[in-house]
Amino acid sequence: MGKDDEAPEFSGQVLDALRQPLESGHVVVARSAGVMRMPARFLLMLAANPCPCGRHGQLGEGCDCSPSAIRRYQARLSGPLLDRVDLRVRVEAVTRAELTGQEGPAESTARIAARVLEARERAAARYKAAPWSANGEVPGHELRTRWHPLPGALKEAERDMECGLLTARGLDRVLRVAWTVADLAGHDRPDADDVAQALYLRTGVIRAVPAVTGAAR
Ligand SMILES: [Zn+2]
Repeated sequence: MGKDDEAPEFSGQVLDALRQPLESGHVVVARSAGVMRMPARFLLMLAANPCPCGRHGQLGEGCDCSPSAIRRYQARLSGPLLDRVDLRVRVEAVTRAELTGQEGPAESTARIAARVLEARERAAARYKAAPWSANGEVPGHELRTRWHPLPGALKEAERDMECGLLTARGLDRVLRVAWTVADLAGHDRPDADDVAQALYLRTGVIRAVPAVTGAAR
């Protein structure tokens, strides 16, 4: 990845200005002539290296960044901004076998698109009486009152909240992702595995889910 297109290369002020439209779906511009409110629903994708040189944590390549330089670099993405990022995926360098196709063909985008369409249709059917059609649009209070996962499915998430790993906003976001995981798997409501998957996509921590909750599907 180039040096200039990574999120930590932007100023913190620019990055944090994304927080409000990410949350509300509109942007407010205040000038002397008045205040304008414009629609701004967008999908935010950020890329970042693990350190200024990009080699930290990779096998076989030396990173010579100091621990404080690595901390400063990573801290440029503020906690409040990251709190609004639902999926955080660590991407490893491409191997030679992957580059030369020795690992066999990956699943085609057409097949994946069909699966995504099916999941979106499931969600749209569920919300047909509501003013939204996708999981990402369900308001937080609706998630906590009407659209909740199976009983007991939130245990891990609640534990994360108790020890400060997950904020209240973070929990809403985990719930929306859990619904999408459930829609992709064809479940009527998210179970403990679906919530664990959503938590993993957010935190990178793999959860062991007791087998008994999986049977309650
Ligand atoms: Zn480095």
